[in-house]
Amino acid sequence: MTVIPEPLRRQVEERAKHRCEYCLLPNSLSFYPHEVDHIIALKHSGSTNAENLAYACWRCNRYKGTDLGSFDPETGAFSFLFNPRTQQWSDHFRWQDARINGITPEGRTTVYLLKLNSHERIAERQRLNLES
Ligand SMILES: [Zn+2]
Repeated sequence: MTVIPEPLRRQVEERAKHRCEYCLLPNSLSFYPHEVDHIIALKHSGSTNAENLAYACWRCNRYKGTDLGSFDPETGAFSFLFNPRTQQWSDHFRWQDARINGITPEGRTTVYLLKLNSHERIAERQRLNLES
């Protein structure tokens, strides 16, 4: 674990409006506190600066790990994951009730790898009424 200086951590959290930048879960509704994710992991030469950091819930952060991409479940082709610093969430995902649907290779690959529609996460969104 890399220690993120507190001012940088705060900057990342405020920029994200206190929501996970992958699944949009608000920190205030999460059982475990959200974390700061290296979009490009340190092992891939990513750096600890604001442009490479994202605010992520613990589930998204755990499932993402140090991965940069995976295989698009629709086409089987390799795709990078959604990058909240260079891409817009609404260009890659759509809500469908409590589900998050990927509408691009990056969106679908991120839904798949980060398990955005696992049973527990859908149940959590339904419980919190987080549909939009
Ligand atoms: Zn999340």
